[in-house]
Amino acid sequence: MAVEFATIASGSSGNSVYFGTEYTKILIDAGLSGKKIQNGLKDIGVLGSDIDGIFVTHEHIDHVAGIGVLSRRFNIPVYATEGTWNCMPSSVGKIESENKRVISKNEKCVINDLCVTPYAIPHDAGQPVGYNVMTEKFKVSIATDIGHVTEEIMENIKDCDLLLLESNHDVEMLKNGDYPYPLKQRILGKKGHLSNETAGKLLAWVICQNSKLKNVFLGHLSKENNTPKTAYNTVKDILEGYDIKTNVDFNLYLAARYGVERIIKPM
Ligand SMILES: [Zn+2]
Ligand SMILES: [Zn+2]
Repeated sequence: MAVEFATIASGSSGNSVYFGTEYTKILIDAGLSGKKIQNGLKDIGVLGSDIDGIFVTHEHIDHVAGIGVLSRRFNIPVYATEGTWNCMPSSVGKIESENKRVISKNEKCVINDLCVTPYAIPHDAGQPVGYNVMTEKFKVSIATDIGHVTEEIMENIKDCDLLLLESNHDVEMLKNGDYPYPLKQRILGKKGHLSNETAGKLLAWVICQNSKLKNVFLGHLSKENNTPKTAYNTVKDILEGYDIKTNVDFNLYLAARYGVERIIKPM
C-alpha cells in the first residue's frame, strides 16, 4: 500500500494535482485541457477512467478549464462549494446533474479510503476552498490561491504530512514589474495571492508545530513576478532564520508550471 501525490500543472496557466491510493484516485482542480491532464496522468500510469472525483478549489479558469471535458468523457463526479458552482464559467460546459456534487467547508467527504475536507480560504472568487485529503495514516494539505494567511488556514494545515503551498510572487518583482496598477493591487490584496516571503513564514510556523511534515511543494508561481530560484531561495532563507534546514529537516520541491512532479510514499 502506498500513497501517491503528483502535481500535473501549477501556475496561472493551469493547475491540477493528483492524489491516489491503490483504491481511490482523485484530482484537485483540472485547470488545463482534458488532453493535457490525461497526458500528465499517463506519465504516472493513471488513466482518466481511474479518477474517482475532481475536487475544485474555485472557479477561476486556471482551476476548472478541463473539469467539464473530463467529467463528460469519463463520467467523473465534480465536487465544489455552492458558491463555486454558482460562479462556474459557462466554458466548462454541461456537467450531468448526478456528477455535480455540492460540498461545504469543514464537511468531510469520504470516497473509499480517502477523506476529503474543504476549508475556507480568502481569494477573490465565489466561495473558494483549500483541501485536506486524508488516508488512515497520511494527510495532504492543498493551500493555493490565498490572499493572506488566516487562522483557519493555519489550523487546517498544521498537522499535515505533505503540503502544497502557494508561493506566487516576489513582492519587489511585482511592484517593479509591468503589470497594470489595479492588477498589482489585486494580487497584493487580501484576496489575491501569497508572496514567497509570506509562504516562507507560514511554512516555518507549520514546521515548528509539526515534525511530521517532510515534503513541501511550492506552487502557483507567477511567470512574470517570480522565478523558481527566487521562490525556492526566499523560502529556504526564511526557514534558515528559524534554524530549519531545507532538505535536511524536510524536502522542498517546486511544482512545475507544466509537467509532473511526483512523490510515492509507502505506507
Ligand atoms: Zn489560480
Ligand atoms: Zn484564483
